[in-house]
Amino acid sequence: MEQLATIDGPERSVIVVAEKDRRNPQVARAVAAHPGLAMVSVPGPLTAVAMTDLVLRESDLGAAECVEVARALPPFLRTYAVLSSATKVEQPAPPFLTYLASLLPWTRFGLDLHEGRYLKPVDLPRVVPEAGVRIISAPTARFSTDLLPAGAAARDVALELPATSWGARHAVECTLLIGSVEDVVAQILSRDAVACVNCQVPTRLSLCPFCGVRQAPEHRKASA
Ligand SMILES: [Zn+2]
Repeated sequence: MEQLATIDGPERSVIVVAEKDRRNPQVARAVAAHPGLAMVSVPGPLTAVAMTDLVLRESDLGAAECVEVARALPPFLRTYAVLSSATKVEQPAPPFLTYLASLLPWTRFGLDLHEGRYLKPVDLPRVVPEAGVRIISAPTARFSTDLLPAGAAARDVALELPATSWGARHAVECTLLIGSVEDVVAQILSRDAVACVNCQVPTRLSLCPFCGVRQAPEHRKASA
């Protein structure tokens, strides 16, 4: 398991894991052993998981709010990568010519995961937004973060783990947050929370993340 974050509250805790680790026995055991523990699985590559972790840690949130922010975060994230080969990338699948070019040893590909497209690495700076972003980058082997757009370099947060390999020999990847941590969190939590009908934890979700009980329709209306 590559990334595992836990946010501990006085009564309840949240565990943030990568989507692929959702069924990890270690996580399942932890959740089963602690009734007050909610799990959030984050889709996407490792830097997106790390960005989610960073947003939660930088915000002073209760456990229920952590779950809501983590689940609502993906639309605020953009992931880009430079790869030495795209032959093993499943989503988005490389176009045929990109696939063929990947077989050559000297090629490099830019990947815009949000738009689901490949482009030349030199074109990456054109598509990567510069304002109000945070970056987490994770180079592997020979590829360095220099291959990524330098616009937000001063705000880089380096990830000490290897990046998602993408099945390539060399890869570097970054995830940007569109907006400041404070603004994004405020936007996600702009609606009022209502106490869970069962365990009283304030939540904006239709299914309580802690006790799993579906909320009454009036609750959902109040929080819609
Ligand atoms: Zn509940």
